[in-house]
Amino acid sequence: IQTIGVLTSGGDAPGMNAAIRAVVRQAISKGKKVKGIRRGYTGLLAEDIVDMEAKDVSDIIQRGGTILQTARCPEFRTEEGQKLGAEMCRKHGIEGIIVIGGDGSFRGAQKLAAQGINTIGIPGTIDLDISCTDYTIGFDTAVNTAMEAIDKIRDTASSHERCSIIEVMGRDAGYIALWCGLANGAEQVLIPEKYDFDEQKIVNNIIANRKRGKRHYIIINAEGIGHSTSLARRIEAATGMETRATILGHMQRGGSPTCKDRVYASTMGAYAVDLLCEGKSNRVVAYKDGKFTDFDVDEALAMEKQISDYQFNVGKNLSI
Ligand code: ADP
Repeated sequence: IQTIGVLTSGGDAPGMNAAIRAVVRQAISKGKKVKGIRRGYTGLLAEDIVDMEAKDVSDIIQRGGTILQTARCPEFRTEEGQKLGAEMCRKHGIEGIIVIGGDGSFRGAQKLAAQGINTIGIPGTIDLDISCTDYTIGFDTAVNTAMEAIDKIRDTASSHERCSIIEVMGRDAGYIALWCGLANGAEQVLIPEKYDFDEQKIVNNIIANRKRGKRHYIIINAEGIGHSTSLARRIEAATGMETRATILGHMQRGGSPTCKDRVYASTMGAYAVDLLCEGKSNRVVAYKDGKFTDFDVDEALAMEKQISDYQFNVGKNLSI
């Protein structure tokens, strides 16, 4: 393999730039050429493709977002789109592509591999919802950002003896919520995987906590659960405790990546290049059980991941 393409696809995540930088420089150090494909599969189909040199990725390791931009590309879900994608690769001499993104992006990579282009996926999502890996690029930064924001809300909630509902990201996965629940010492964590929440129970718990002298009550709500603002209104009406909802939103996606995100993303970027150079294709880089490793994409997409019951229950036990 002589020329490697790299793209970011789906939702962006802090640390993607560190991965891009690693891909470019590891490839160059192995005597390969690199082409950056902008705006994910959209840019591949539109031939938005640029040569990348070592200097093109200088001064980006500390930056959030992705210098290659990202997009969602409905056309790539069709066979014609995938064929055109493979044609574009051939036209530009790209023999292997590294796709940084989530499960959807890996499905795209799988289709491209079926069209004869070698592909390697790198898990990039703040949601941590990729089954084959214990680490995804961006989660560490996002969860730290959320944790710091929640600390600030807690200060003022305690001063005013308020109940706070803080909505964090994770439409289908409650990892950010669960981790913040533990890291911020929240009284309640509502996540899609454990959708057992009983509003009356929360109300009773708030009243009981108040009687015991607790000055605040923090509920962390994963995005997928429901409407935080109306929940706040109902809780305030039922408990008499002033209740405010804060939706953290897209701030969780941005910002300078943490040390862990920079180091792991760099390692995964280099690892993906090594796999392509070994002639591998249709694989996903992963960090599993304390080691960097890789899986067949078909296998990776068939795996299931579960929120740890143990940690969920620890969160409950520690919130008394
Ligand atoms: P993520 O990669 O974060 O899961 P998406 O699910 O939005 O994000 O997927 C990103 C892009 O990957 C889509 O816009 C589409 O171009 C491509 N993609 C997703 N699913 C498929 C599929 N089944 N077949 C081909 N391409 C897909």
